[in-house]
Amino acid sequence: MRMTVLASGSKGNSTVIASARTRILVDAGLSCRELLRRMRLVGEDPAELSAVLITHEHQDHIAGVGTLARKLRIPVFFTESTHRAWVRSLTPRTTMTYAQWLDKMQAEKELAQRAALEPSATEAGPVAEVDLCAGAEADEAPRTDPTSLPDVQYFRSGQDFQIGDLHITPFTIPHDAADPCGFVVHCPAEGIRMAVATDLGYMPPNVKAALKGTDVLLLESNHDLEMLKDGPYPWSVKQRVLSRVGHQSNHATAEFLARDYDGGAHTIVLGHLSEQNNNPALALLAAQEALGHKPKLLGNRVVLAEQGLPLDPIRL
Ligand SMILES: [Zn+2]
Ligand SMILES: [Zn+2]
Repeated sequence: MRMTVLASGSKGNSTVIASARTRILVDAGLSCRELLRRMRLVGEDPAELSAVLITHEHQDHIAGVGTLARKLRIPVFFTESTHRAWVRSLTPRTTMTYAQWLDKMQAEKELAQRAALEPSATEAGPVAEVDLCAGAEADEAPRTDPTSLPDVQYFRSGQDFQIGDLHITPFTIPHDAADPCGFVVHCPAEGIRMAVATDLGYMPPNVKAALKGTDVLLLESNHDLEMLKDGPYPWSVKQRVLSRVGHQSNHATAEFLARDYDGGAHTIVLGHLSEQNNNPALALLAAQEALGHKPKLLGNRVVLAEQGLPLDPIRL
């Protein structure tokens, strides 16, 4: 199994998680073009992607999802609330009743079914064209509904589902979005468990429990408390980040690693670092100090995810 963090931070998040048979993308918070470029850079063939999973509707997690899913003709997995919030954010002036919403979803489903029955020349064409990402956003017809997706799949936090040979467990996280979640991705065939937990106001017991037994953990280490307090953000934004539905500090991450973490991971990836209010060296030091007494020979390697470029794949 492998995890490849394509991007992490407030300007965009996306991570590939793959077994030998199945490849999924957790979040699509860069442009389609950039997502495809970064996948190629790390040797992940976009044509092999089975699905996109969305943690929540904030732009830094979802910006490229529509174009990417339409290009690759792959399903997008959301909670229903997250999907609705995303559609609303792209159609701000329409107020839709729930009945209208259901009609819209039904119409889209029928459209997708018809398209599947009568594949047009473009739909039948190979997905892995060399220039797939060239002008990915630009070459769509201007009238393309930005909210249309080839296939929408709903999940609920706390209820497992399966994509190929990957077992996915979504878990609720405290964050100021409609229905935000993290994911544990388990491949029973390979006996490996990987998890993504960012955008955490704090770590409630259900999150700590979900992260037990993970082999690779992408965990938020957003800000240094002093840098945030002294930094350039307006007070209202500082309060939002610090709140219980905001983002997790280096200190809170270290506290989890020292007190609650089971010590069994091969690699811990610190992610969603603030460019304004954090210093990668501080985040790394806080986590390493917290892990001080945990065995290093078997793992507990700490690496920092980056905003501007993908990390090397972590293979287990
Ligand atoms: Zn975010
Ligand atoms: Zn967020």
